[in-house]
Amino acid sequence: MRAAIRSGGAMDVPCGTCTACCTGSQFVHVGPDETDALADIPAELLFPAPGLPDGHVVLGYDDRGHCPMLVDGRCSIYDHRPRTCRTYDCRVLVAAGFADDEDVPVEISRRATRWRFDHRGESARMEQAAVERAATFLADHPEALPPEAGRPSLTRLAALAIEVADLFVDAQPDVVGVRAALSAALAQMRDSSAWRR
Ligand code: SF4
Repeated sequence: MRAAIRSGGAMDVPCGTCTACCTGSQFVHVGPDETDALADIPAELLFPAPGLPDGHVVLGYDDRGHCPMLVDGRCSIYDHRPRTCRTYDCRVLVAAGFADDEDVPVEISRRATRWRFDHRGESARMEQAAVERAATFLADHPEALPPEAGRPSLTRLAALAIEVADLFVDAQPDVVGVRAALSAALAQMRDSSAWRR
């Protein structure tokens, strides 16, 4: 997950037939560099992305909460789907302890809460516990978020928690330390528009 979060690369998620993230009333951000996706999505379905520079757009959803590119239960532009879709991994919500939060769309929550993690050992168990503590800290201390973090969704907050989890393995860092670590992490993300869902 860390590698995908930093690179904006695709996640290899065993989604099977699940389309929860396509049917969960979510806006899909599309960056100006995503020429493939932009060429395949009808312009009338795209709207300026709030709070982002010109050229950043969002793909909306219909009155059922479904992405309009979902046709007969499948993504009709799968090979050219936006980066937001390629990087999305609902397991981050589980890692952070957010999967059953009331702000998570019910379709995604229903699927995400079925994931179970196996830990290779005690250090892995401690690492995941640190992710949960980091996520709780970020949710409780919005002042720890630097301005460039924007107003993150729970998914993005979970991704940011993964980025700073090392600080929480055997310590309880303060707001200043977490904020500095988040700034450094955001600067490292090749494309910080990823994980914006
Ligand atoms: S573009 Fe495709 S993968 Fe992305 S939300 Fe829409 S249907 Fe799902």
